[in-house]
Amino acid sequence: EGIEYSTEPFESLYEVYEDIGSGQFAVVRRCVEKATRSEYAAKYIRKRRVASSRRGLPLEVIAREVHVLQKLHKHQNIISLHQVFDNGQHVILVLELVRGGELFEHISERERLSEEEASAFLHQILLGVCHMHSNDIAHLDLKPENVLLLSKNRQHIKLIDFGLSRVITDAEEVRDLMGTAEFVAPEIVNYEPLCLATDMWAIGVITYILVSGSSPFLGDSQQETFNNVTAVDYTFDTQYFSGTSDLAKDFICRLLVKDVRKRMTAKESLSHPWIQPESEEQEEERRDAQTNMDNFKSYQARRRWKHSVKVVTLCNRLSRSAKLRSQSAELLDSRSSAITLREDQWPTLRCLAAS
Ligand code: ATP
Repeated sequence: EGIEYSTEPFESLYEVYEDIGSGQFAVVRRCVEKATRSEYAAKYIRKRRVASSRRGLPLEVIAREVHVLQKLHKHQNIISLHQVFDNGQHVILVLELVRGGELFEHISERERLSEEEASAFLHQILLGVCHMHSNDIAHLDLKPENVLLLSKNRQHIKLIDFGLSRVITDAEEVRDLMGTAEFVAPEIVNYEPLCLATDMWAIGVITYILVSGSSPFLGDSQQETFNNVTAVDYTFDTQYFSGTSDLAKDFICRLLVKDVRKRMTAKESLSHPWIQPESEEQEEERRDAQTNMDNFKSYQARRRWKHSVKVVTLCNRLSRSAKLRSQSAELLDSRSSAITLREDQWPTLRCLAAS
């Protein structure tokens, strides 16, 4: 099952249009296949040129994402891969185009969302995750940014970003520190083996946020968040959960479990009564319960705000590093054997060395 990279130049087969997203190592652009006039999303992943460099990703890491996408092809809730190119600098993944934006963004624009509707979204996420897991693939980066809607007016969910995904086998243990603190499971924080259940923890966190608008483990610092995660320190605060059904709480409780063997699996969660009610009563309980929309809207507003701060900080860092580079070049030019910098430049330098 070798990976086939098309050797023809990407631009000769596709017209490339505007940027529609970006990540740490990737830019995503809308494109149109000339032969069919079909639209796709082209994800340009920058290749690492020099082993010691921190720019771009090693080819074997990119190959892992491609391999996973090829293995998962054609599930209605997972982004599908159309073609792969290598232009020397980038590997270009031609992906199914998703136009509806983030599920959380879509929800925050609504006035109300019943638990019945919320659980229908969860149901689709679980179908996608179940498909991955039955192929021994763990996503390992499930979070609101990676749950998109195919289009604005159809409630069809697509899971994206398989950049951290791994094939999980008994033969080989995977340990890694990765993901976003708010959504990582205790085994990640503790540097214990990762497994399919690691995704189910994230589903628990996503559900908790969806019904209440608050985040179960989020602290004021990353360290505090990690401490809360490893202690499984969360509650159903009545301030946020007064309208939440017991079924929804039970669903969450079975996912936010420290012991990976006791955590509910994807398959089990598909038949949990919050997803698949077993009686008229349960169906009613779910229909009558409302998610906490006021609080959800402010959670979403905080997320948007944090995201823009991150972008501004990054821009500042980049312009500072460019300035510093030219300053140190001047210093070197002046043939001074010892580079002396003003004291106030040290913290920046240390931060550059660390980045
Ligand atoms: P990160 O650094 O967050 O892990 P990444 O570099 O792996 O990201 P993706 O998350 O796959 O990149 O894509 C970056 C952004 O591009 C996404 O957040 C999304 O907004 C957009 N995007 C990705 N794939 C698609 C797609 N198939 N259709 C539409 N938009 C997409």
